[in-house]
Amino acid sequence: TGTLRLQLRVAALTADRVLLLADDRTAARRLEEMRRDFVANVSHELKTPVGAISLLAETVRNNPDDPETVRRFTDRMQREARRLSALVQQIIDLSRLQEPDALIDSELVAVDEVVAEAVDRVAVEARARNIVVAQGGTPGLCVHGDPALLTTAVRNLLDNAVRHSPPATRVSVGVSRGDGLVRVAVVDQGIGIPEDKRERVFERFYRIDAARSRQTGGTGLGLSIVKHIAADHGGRVDLWSTPGRGSTFTLVLPEAQGGSDAAALSTPEP
Ligand code: ADP
Repeated sequence: TGTLRLQLRVAALTADRVLLLADDRTAARRLEEMRRDFVANVSHELKTPVGAISLLAETVRNNPDDPETVRRFTDRMQREARRLSALVQQIIDLSRLQEPDALIDSELVAVDEVVAEAVDRVAVEARARNIVVAQGGTPGLCVHGDPALLTTAVRNLLDNAVRHSPPATRVSVGVSRGDGLVRVAVVDQGIGIPEDKRERVFERFYRIDAARSRQTGGTGLGLSIVKHIAADHGGRVDLWSTPGRGSTFTLVLPEAQGGSDAAALSTPEP
């Protein structure tokens, strides 16, 4: 019976290995499919603004004596160029985040400072749309991580809140703590997100309304970047939304121990 048991064990081990190999192969195939999709999407997304710039340039060249056309079309060229450069930057960010050990810098980060910096970066766009961005919540909370990446995450959420809201509405960003977690909630009074789209919006290049997103300068990469940054910090992104009323995106991160003391240390008394 000893030999039989041994044979059974070997058979079981082999079966396990075969299953493991099959799993590996499925995973590898899925990865390869994702890579191919990504390249196809990137090519498409890059070609669109390049094609537009080329057409606009041709129109300007054919109408050199019409100052109104020249002004309007060069403005649009500039907008497309800005979108193109944002897209290239986001593709670089995303590929960096997908590296296995993506988190390059990890230090004690004051969440208030990250939020203030992110609010600053969307100020011009918010003002242009007459949207008030209010910052509040519990002060002095800290997390461990990369301050530049965390700022990018909050900035992307704020940027979305501003872009997907009607003019003259309010966006707020509140920081809170509980259960060993820090929550940064970005609340808007915008168009909202239908229930069946709430998972998909985190996919690369997924947009509920592609034409609208392009018009507002979107790339379809913002939320997938936020999701990666959250995951790389051991956190996640929660989403609540009521279509037509607004959305709340919450960046949830593990709280750093002794955070308040560290925050006090990093902002010395005047
Ligand atoms: P985009 O650059 O298009 O905003 P994102 O990845 O940031 O790309 O978001 C994906 C899609 O999710 C958007 O195109 C939009 O349809 C939807 N979305 C994101 N944030 C919001 C929001 N605050 N309110 C409503 N819809 C949103």
